[in-house]
Amino acid sequence: MFRWLKVKLVVINLTLICMVLLLVFVGINWYVNQRAAERSLSILQTISQSIGPFDTVSPQNERVLRSNSFYVTLDTHGQIIEVSPNAPPAYAAIAVLTLERGENAGNIAYNQENLWYLKTSLDNGTRLVYLQDEGGSALLSSLTDVSLAIGGVSVLLALAVSIVLANRALHPIHRAWGKQQAFVADASHELRTPLAVLNTNLEVVMDSPSERVVDQFQWLTNMKQEITRMSVLVESLLFLARADAKSDVLQVELFSLSDMLRTVSLPFVPLLAEKCLRLEQSIQQGVKMKGMESRIRQLLVILLDNAMKNTPRNGQIRISMHVQNDRAHISIADTGIGIPPEQIKRIFERFYRIDQSRTREQGGAGLGLSIAECIVHEHKGTIHVQSEPGKGSTFTLIFPL
Ligand code: ADP
Repeated sequence: MFRWLKVKLVVINLTLICMVLLLVFVGINWYVNQRAAERSLSILQTISQSIGPFDTVSPQNERVLRSNSFYVTLDTHGQIIEVSPNAPPAYAAIAVLTLERGENAGNIAYNQENLWYLKTSLDNGTRLVYLQDEGGSALLSSLTDVSLAIGGVSVLLALAVSIVLANRALHPIHRAWGKQQAFVADASHELRTPLAVLNTNLEVVMDSPSERVVDQFQWLTNMKQEITRMSVLVESLLFLARADAKSDVLQVELFSLSDMLRTVSLPFVPLLAEKCLRLEQSIQQGVKMKGMESRIRQLLVILLDNAMKNTPRNGQIRISMHVQNDRAHISIADTGIGIPPEQIKRIFERFYRIDQSRTREQGGAGLGLSIAECIVHEHKGTIHVQSEPGKGSTFTLIFPL
């Protein structure tokens, strides 16, 4: 698909460049031709005016006439009655050719020679004045040769440049396409596992149709868990798809960031107690932020949830916030297992999990931090991670207020 797209881009580019080149060269040729015609006509008019009726060549035009011009005068019956001394032997044939032409001025080719002519009506006949082409057609033909040579080289150059540009233009599309493919494959893979579990549990239930619901409770509970897992996954996928499409309008409002940070951990209290985790808070009072409150809460929940999942028993989690240079600096730090330095860059990738089996047990599909990053960007903020394996991690968020 991309090869065809590249070929199409190159062909379109090249066609456009060829059309522009053609237009430029045809324009230049037409202009040079036009100038040569005007110049020759003006010389012919000067010569024509300098010759009296049936006159011999006047001295001031002798030079011009002798070098590259001549004339033939015909009476009203078309009989040649006068010829300038320097006329070529074929002047009669040339005169016939000229009379056949309707236009009073123009150029004719005779014996591979290009002659400009001007017909002037006299009282008792017609005078035909000729000017041998002063290198105009030679200039035109060499101009055509040069144009063709330059055009050829330009087309080759344009081809090379078009290929390079097409490659560059397609690179981000190629990458995005690859990511999209991987995203679909990962999403399908994530949905396959709970579906398989659901199927197995359902088969067990259906194998014993006479049993009561209470006897099948274990299998039904398993199915409920998998359905919940799938719902969360589908919600996350939908969120990311909408964020990619930028289809959601951010409902911006002014809310108390200080209050939110103080209360965001409340739903986690039972879990904190269960794991004997200590929660510390250092939150500046009275800080208000403009943003979508529910999204900021979702972001903090993701970070807090990750901190709790990745901190062993008796560890500590610290939530802090202060304002500096009109920006809120929020950090969520834990004394957990930490993140290996080579993985830090990848944890924001969709479906990326450090320990696949462990995080699946904990219910994560590797989408939490991707969603977090989207929310941060939506609010024109930044997110940074500092982590040391075995010591803990700190996620820092900075938002304009
Ligand atoms: P999930 O939704 O599965 O938790 P995330 O996108 O939130 O996935 O996180 C990606 C990976 O980053 C996870 O595999 C997790 O192990 C790791 N991670 C996230 N937060 C922390 C943390 N505070 N400490 C250690 N590892 C973390």
